[in-house]
Amino acid sequence: MTSHVLSRVGQRWRGHLPAACARARCATVLPSAGPAPVRGAPEGASPRTPVPGASLASAIQYANAEPRSTWTRAEIAAIYKQPFTELLFQAAAVHRANFDPLEVQKCTLLSIKTGGCSEDCKYCSQSARYSTTVKATPTMQLDEVVEAAKRAKAAGSTRFCMGTAWRELGGKKSTFNRILSMVKEVRGMGLEVCCTLGMVTEEQARQLKEAGLSAYNHNLDTSREHYPNVITTRTYDDRLQTIKNVRKAGITVCCGGILGIGEGVDDRIGLLHELSTMEQHPESVPVNSLVAIDGTPLEGSTPVSIFEVARTIATARITMPRSVVRLSAGRLSFSEMDQAIMFMAGANSIFTGDKLLTTPNPEFNEDEQLFDKLGMTGRPAFAAGRHDSASL
Ligand code: SF4
Repeated sequence: MTSHVLSRVGQRWRGHLPAACARARCATVLPSAGPAPVRGAPEGASPRTPVPGASLASAIQYANAEPRSTWTRAEIAAIYKQPFTELLFQAAAVHRANFDPLEVQKCTLLSIKTGGCSEDCKYCSQSARYSTTVKATPTMQLDEVVEAAKRAKAAGSTRFCMGTAWRELGGKKSTFNRILSMVKEVRGMGLEVCCTLGMVTEEQARQLKEAGLSAYNHNLDTSREHYPNVITTRTYDDRLQTIKNVRKAGITVCCGGILGIGEGVDDRIGLLHELSTMEQHPESVPVNSLVAIDGTPLEGSTPVSIFEVARTIATARITMPRSVVRLSAGRLSFSEMDQAIMFMAGANSIFTGDKLLTTPNPEFNEDEQLFDKLGMTGRPAFAAGRHDSASL
């Protein structure tokens, strides 16, 4: 496309141009609003005649859009099912309009209470219902956690997440007090602090906020329809209630899902629909890929492909433009080039450290080398996107 058309496409999105380029001998038809044509799209997308300039115009449209909670499943499906390179191009444009694309947040996740969980999440090595190699251990002591946070900070992490394997915080008073002390200490080190402690009440969320908690992770995992095939011991609405409790306390929300747990494309779209129609989008959206663990009901599952993960990341980026999208569990199974594609698709956060709760993750220095190759840097703690003020 010639440069005069490129500039006129931009103007058209500001509403100044007719549908056809007026320049002599130029036959370009300028596009109307909506996603790019779906030539070559997989999974049942209907073919349409490609319109020159539509790809760029869709990218500009999405990049200029304010976040909204009115997405329909059909809109999200149309985005997700586009030709792969079109989807990536649009997501990359949205990423650049909302964030410095060379900055990637580094988070470290520590399991502060491992194994022995009463829940039946079919993907999880920590459920007491399955026979895995994970051994149940008690909640860690404060000084052990502080030491781990110091190591994470020294290695460049700016967010420190603490996870416990249990259904809910419930009435564990002394353990909760210890966790509150961990939150205070880690926050005092200048790190963003996140916890994932299962279901919490409004009052517990309030106390976590008071202790300095920046974010609370509670994933929806998958679509509402597929969820009962994966977890039966608590409902989708239970999860949404915890997210509401956290939001009410003024803590930012980290909420995403897992790919490769027997879901179909419609379930991925359903999950993204749940997240992107929340009144306020989750500030962090982790996209996990199943690490199939022997002994769990999902052992032997077919691994998800780079295309499935990148499509999900890119669609999350477009529908939740100001959220941090985190490339989470399963990263070890993807090559450096795969990961570069995921960053192009709009991922701007990773977990660093050799373990993610109980599953393997790339080592700190491997990530450093990858960042060097890609020219990327770590995002500072409490940094804001282009449109947000730092609020953590
Ligand atoms: S995912 Fe969490 S709640 Fe589910 S079994 Fe594992 S530790 Fe328990």
